[in-house]
Amino acid sequence: MAYDFDLFVIGAGSGGVRAARFAAGFGAKVAVAESRYLGGTCVNVGCVPKKLLVYGAHVADELEQAAGYGWSLEEGHFDWGTLIANKNREIERLNGIYRNLLVNSGVTLLQGHARITGAHELEVEGQRYTAEHILIATGGWPQVPDIPGKDLAITSNEAFYLKDLPRRVLVVGGGYIAVEFAGIFQGLGAATTLLYRGDLFLRGFDGSVRTHLKEELEKRGLDLQFNADIQRIDKLEDGSLKATLKDGRELVADCVFYATGRRPMLDNLGLENTGVELDERGYVRVDDQYQTTAPSILAIGDVIGRVQLTPVALAEGMAVARRLFKPEQYRPVDYQNIPTAVFSQPPIGTVGLTEEQALEAGHKVNVYESRFRAMKLTLTDIQEKTLMKLVVDAQTDKVLGCHMVGPDAGEIIQGLGVALKAGATKQQFDETIGVHPTAAEEFVTLRTITR
Ligand code: FAD
Ligand code: NDP
Repeated sequence: MAYDFDLFVIGAGSGGVRAARFAAGFGAKVAVAESRYLGGTCVNVGCVPKKLLVYGAHVADELEQAAGYGWSLEEGHFDWGTLIANKNREIERLNGIYRNLLVNSGVTLLQGHARITGAHELEVEGQRYTAEHILIATGGWPQVPDIPGKDLAITSNEAFYLKDLPRRVLVVGGGYIAVEFAGIFQGLGAATTLLYRGDLFLRGFDGSVRTHLKEELEKRGLDLQFNADIQRIDKLEDGSLKATLKDGRELVADCVFYATGRRPMLDNLGLENTGVELDERGYVRVDDQYQTTAPSILAIGDVIGRVQLTPVALAEGMAVARRLFKPEQYRPVDYQNIPTAVFSQPPIGTVGLTEEQALEAGHKVNVYESRFRAMKLTLTDIQEKTLMKLVVDAQTDKVLGCHMVGPDAGEIIQGLGVALKAGATKQQFDETIGVHPTAAEEFVTLRTITR
């Protein structure tokens, strides 16, 4: 049977665009449907605008350090409206780039919501299309617990478009987004409280990293409240919001920001017309080649709930394009040693096993840990400490994990990701000549076993 397209991609986000472009490049006839914004979450309400706001907040640090270097500055003033307008302009530029990337690679771009109507059939804005393969790359959506007053809260989606910087913010959650936005709001001048339901935020990260970041955020004056959760939110007469906690305490703020995880975006996707099954967590179930339980339908990215990071969605998109249309170049995605950064202030960079994971996996580990005041701060009064940590297998000498909290952690950890992928040993770290004077050189000069 002749289909309209070889591949029909639903969602022009990180994974969908990558799969579509490469499939078209391999000679396939490809369509992409996008209902909301080109580039998806990462470009519009994720990585990119988030990083721009982080840069904006970080300027406050630079200004604070300036005096130590002899600069005297007039009293500074921050204007949220300017930052958001400039950010929006940049996002529009990127939307245009994504459009060109798709169109120039010969992909048919359809604006509108796609709904699957059969194993090889879809509908976009009332128009029917057929395709040999359908790729679900619809991403995720913020999830807010069902509490009274939840509609008074915002999520990351709205935070990027707030008209004004709130004066007082309550951030709820203890994952990437909560920690990053707490840093943005506080850095830009809002009185910020982070509420997390457990004992310590960033569950799953290395224990030293979690504790170190907690201490550094507290030094910066962020109000961290653990074992705290909101029971209800009410609007007060003056327009501010009152959050009543489960322990009975009441907190008043101008904005309550929820970052309590994301659900797969499957709204009105028509999965009931297919044999696509979901896993126990509600994500699309796929095999190791991203095929769903319906043979003609594949899925990648946040909607499969494996690792919700843009570079992972890109790698999965690439793997699908190759497997379908260039099988001789197919390589499975390697989910081991994925480097990642949390753009908190200070940021976290991490790759490989945490100390806890290494022990749990049965490794005998040597831990090398260093805390120091970065050189840049020595001419200032700022007492922030950088943390660097290596988790090493005591028997094989292989470096199992690298963890950092401190300036440029994300930039530094990328290179260490290559080292871990290559299976580097501690001895090879030691034999690597440092770049002096940098903070990064500490990773090749850690000599004393801490534990
Ligand atoms: P998405 O990028 O979400 O794209 C899905 C697309 O599908 C969307 O454009 C959506 O409109 C469209 N769509 C959905 N349903 C339909 C339909 N039925 N028809 C047509 N179109 C549809 N990751 C990092 O690696 N680094 C970061 O710093 C980082 N920061 C983040 C910050 C925030 C605030 C958030 C929310 C996420 C962040 N992420 C980050 C995660 C990253 O954005 C995601 O992992 C990535 O975007 C997933 O890509 P995807 O292709 O699976 O989905
Ligand atoms: P995460 O899954 O990272 O964190 C969710 C947080 O919310 C956890 O601390 C969780 O607590 C808490 N939580 C969940 N449900 C509730 C509830 N009902 N009440 C109170 N607290 C709750 O999700 P995020 O929303 O922060 O981010 C989504 C994903 O996006 C990330 O996991 C990451 O993959 C990606 N991302 C990546 C970034 C980067 O690379 N820098 C930046 C931003 C996002 P508990 O731990 O106790 O379950």
